[in-house]
Amino acid sequence: MTNDQINQLQSSLRGKLIKADDPEYDTARKVYNGMIDKHPDAIAYCMDVADVVTCVNFARENKLLLAVRGGGHNAGGLGIADGALVIDLSEMKDINIDPVAKTVLVQGGCLLKEVDLATHGVGMAAPSGVFGTTGVAGLTLGGGIGYLTRKYGLAIDNLLEANVVLADGHYVKVSATENPDLFWALRGGGGNFGVVVSFLFKLHPVDTVYGGPILFDISESKEVMKFYRDFILNAPENLNGFFAFLTVPPHDPFPKELQLKKMCGVVWCYTGNPDEAAEVFKPVRTFKTPALDWCGPIPFPALQTMFDALMPAGLQWYWKADFVKELSDEAIDLHVKHGAAMPTPLSTMHMYPVNGAASRVDKNDSAWNFRDANWSMVIAGIDPDPSKKDVLINWARDYWTALHPYSEGGAYVNFIMDEGEERVKEVYADNFDKLASIKAKYDPMNLFRVNQNIKPKEAEVKVRIVNAEEKEVHKEGL
Ligand SMILES: Cc1cc2nc3c(=O)[nH]c(=O)nc-3n(C[C@H](O)[C@H](O)[C@H](O)COP(=O)(O)OP(=O)(O)OC[C@H]3O[C@@H](n4cnc5c(N)ncnc54)[C@H](O)[C@@H]3O)c2cc1C
Repeated sequence: MTNDQINQLQSSLRGKLIKADDPEYDTARKVYNGMIDKHPDAIAYCMDVADVVTCVNFARENKLLLAVRGGGHNAGGLGIADGALVIDLSEMKDINIDPVAKTVLVQGGCLLKEVDLATHGVGMAAPSGVFGTTGVAGLTLGGGIGYLTRKYGLAIDNLLEANVVLADGHYVKVSATENPDLFWALRGGGGNFGVVVSFLFKLHPVDTVYGGPILFDISESKEVMKFYRDFILNAPENLNGFFAFLTVPPHDPFPKELQLKKMCGVVWCYTGNPDEAAEVFKPVRTFKTPALDWCGPIPFPALQTMFDALMPAGLQWYWKADFVKELSDEAIDLHVKHGAAMPTPLSTMHMYPVNGAASRVDKNDSAWNFRDANWSMVIAGIDPDPSKKDVLINWARDYWTALHPYSEGGAYVNFIMDEGEERVKEVYADNFDKLASIKAKYDPMNLFRVNQNIKPKEAEVKVRIVNAEEKEVHKEGL
């Protein structure tokens, strides 16, 4: 962007515009993943819908690369880009709860922990993820897997409406009845279709839950994983638990004798009758004696933020992911081998269950395709030290390469890095074509392309351009 452009844009915004020579620039351009080091031209801290519309129009009219940042948690750093104008939504954090309608209207800059804390005040929650510092916007637009998925579905299964600034600058409401094609695409299609300024979610009665980690020594991972596989597929839907390989952190409050030990286990969340929790967890506690059992009554927002402090922003992250339907004994042997080889204390592998309520939605009812998978698996190499980058990447790639043949082929869009066009096609499988058509309708020039990009279907773009030109000729004729 030229200085003139920057001055012109700043004078039209209520929010602040940070540019490369501002002292705040280096902090402002950071995202959660420390491996990402992008230099945008300017970052606009939008204050309201008008600011977002101004930035979208300005980027389109001046042919600028446009990026949109919600919580900045994206693994591939797709909330920011070199040379881009970035729309940052972190100043837009309004949360409006309607306890009678049981809904919450959330602005696009909110983090999960902010929404959870607000809705906890009325004893309710909207299904989202398992990590408080994640952005609601990016998580929801990709799908949203979390502690409430088995009982209430994905975040998108609880999305009632979204308010969106489109590529042409129009501000529209999107729901099952208004712009229904766009509503279909937004539920899993990522940031491809516009800037979502606010989301209206359904709330559920989730207050104090019974949850937390139950861990075992890594030498027991084969039995633990087999037990988990058989148990979670048949467990009541108000019981959720993701499997993890991890290392016990080397500090309080973790027991000294376990610190820095590699472990495996499950982080549980039970939302059923608290009087029945002991009975529900009996099989989990009796099939083997856990090395650490921190599962008990806990306010839902506390469970959601339990791991935030262990994973501060700025660490190096490298992710590989897949959906999994069958977890065979053969696959478990490979998990045991690669799990035990975690290269750094923060590296991890998670398997999030997506069976239950999420699997009752048809795979073509929203953009999120893999409704028949049982788990969403993510392998994450993590460390504070940038010099470990190659070690993290190599471990995650080797692990993924070994397990990929046992997967469904596609992955959860929010668990992949920037892995190219073919991988995006695998993510959406037989929904991809429809997404490309909807993209051609709402963003024919691919203004929103800093994301897991779905290119507009070429043939339909041509028709739209011809139609638009004809309209111009018609207007001129008048
Ligand atoms: C520590 C950690 C824990 C996680 N846990 C979970 C989990 O439990 N469940 C889960 O499902 N996922 C989880 N994720 C993945 C997470 O969903 C993705 O990283 C997601 O992209 C984060 O959204 P964000 O808004 O923070 O990201 P950003 O980097 O800001 O944006 C991500 C993408 O969404 C687009 N986008 C953001 N906001 C908007 C908007 N308002 N309108 C249009 N497009 C927008 C961006 O352009 C970008 O392409 C986790 C990630 C991390 C790092």
